[in-house]
Amino acid sequence: MSTATGLLTIDLAAVRANWRTVCQHLSERPAAVLKADAYGLGAEPVGNSLYRAGCREFFFATLEEALAARSYLPEDTHLYILGGVRPGEESECLNAGLVPVLYSLAAIDRWAKVCQQADTKAPSVIKVDTGMTRLGLSLYDWEQLRAAPDRLRACHPSVVMSHLACADEWGHPMNREQQRRFAVIAVQARALLPGVRCSLANSSGIFLGRDWHFDMARPGASLYGFDPHLGREPRMHPVVQLALPVLQWRELRSEAAVGYGATTKVPAGRQLAIVAGGYADGLNRTIGRVGGQGYLGETRVPVVGRISMDTTIFDVTDAMLTSPAESAWIQVLDHRLTVAEVSHRIDALGYEVLTSLAGRYRRVYRDEVAK
Ligand SMILES: *Cc1c(COP(=O)(O)O)cnc(C)c1O
Repeated sequence: MSTATGLLTIDLAAVRANWRTVCQHLSERPAAVLKADAYGLGAEPVGNSLYRAGCREFFFATLEEALAARSYLPEDTHLYILGGVRPGEESECLNAGLVPVLYSLAAIDRWAKVCQQADTKAPSVIKVDTGMTRLGLSLYDWEQLRAAPDRLRACHPSVVMSHLACADEWGHPMNREQQRRFAVIAVQARALLPGVRCSLANSSGIFLGRDWHFDMARPGASLYGFDPHLGREPRMHPVVQLALPVLQWRELRSEAAVGYGATTKVPAGRQLAIVAGGYADGLNRTIGRVGGQGYLGETRVPVVGRISMDTTIFDVTDAMLTSPAESAWIQVLDHRLTVAEVSHRIDALGYEVLTSLAGRYRRVYRDEVAK
C-alpha cells in the first residue's frame, strides 16, 4: 500500500443512507446533483451507488460531465445539464440523450430548432430566476413565453425549475419570497405544459418545509454528508474520511521557528509530526490556513506554522507519544471532524471543503455503513 499521500475514504453506504433520509422528507423521488465529480467524491461510484438506491435523475454542471456519465450510468437515467447547452453543441447534447437546462430565450429557440430539424421532441428544462440573479430567465422573459405558448412548447420542457439564494439561512425572508414567486410560475407552467414537473429545492431547501418541495428536489450536499445549516435538519451520515500519513516525527531540543516564513515559534520539548499533504492537495481549504486540526488517535492536535505545498506540520505533544510508530496517520476529516464543523470553524463553505479535496489522494470506496 502506498503511503506517500493522503488516504481519502468515501463511504457509499453513507451516501445511500443520506439519500433515504432525504427521501423520507419528500413525497416525490428527488434527483441527485453529481456536478463537479459529485463534489469531488467521484461521480461514477457515487452515481451508481445512488442508482442502486433508486435514483434515476442526475444533474451535472457541464456537457462534458453529463457525456461522461452516459458511459457509466445505466440507460434508464435522465441526465440534466445545469450549465445548459452552448451554441453549436445542441446536436451533441441531443444525440447523447442529455437534457439541457435552458435559461435564455435564445437557447430555447436554438433547442427548438435542433429538435425540429431532427424531427424529435427531446425534453428540456426551463430555468426561471426568482431572485438569485444567476442563470435563469428573467420574469420578463417568462412573461414573453407565456404570451407565446407555442414558442415555449417548441422546446418540450419536462421540468420548470428555479434555485434558492438563501436556503441555508433559515429565517431569511428571501426563502419565502422566492417560494411565492415560484409557486405562481408553477401554476402558470402547469396550465401551459400538461405533465410538466416543477423543481425548486436544493438540500437546504428541502429542510425549509413542504412548501418548497414541489415535484422534484435536487439535493447534493446532504447526500455527501454535510448539513448546510448546522444542526437544524436531521444529521446526515458523514461520507468522507481523510487521513494523512506521518512522514517524520520531530522532538524539539530548543525553541524553533516552524515552516515557511518562520511565522510560528514553538518551544523546546514539543513534539511535531510532519505529514504528507499540503495546499496542492487543497488543505488550505480543507483544514484551514489558521486553526487547522486533526486527530492523532483519540487526541485532537493543532496545525502549526504555514501549510506547505506538499506537507503540513502538527503539534502532537498532547498525544504524548513515548515511542511514535514509524507508520502513523493523522485524521483531518471524519465523524469527529465533519465537513460541517471544519467549514464552520475556518469560515468556508462545506462545498469548498469537499470540492478542494484534490486528486493526489488515494481514494478508497467502502460500501458498508460505518458505526
Ligand atoms: C448545486 C446545485 C444544487 C445542489 O445544491 P446542494 O446545496 O448541494 O443540495 C441544486 N440546484 C442547482 C441549480 C445547483 O446549482
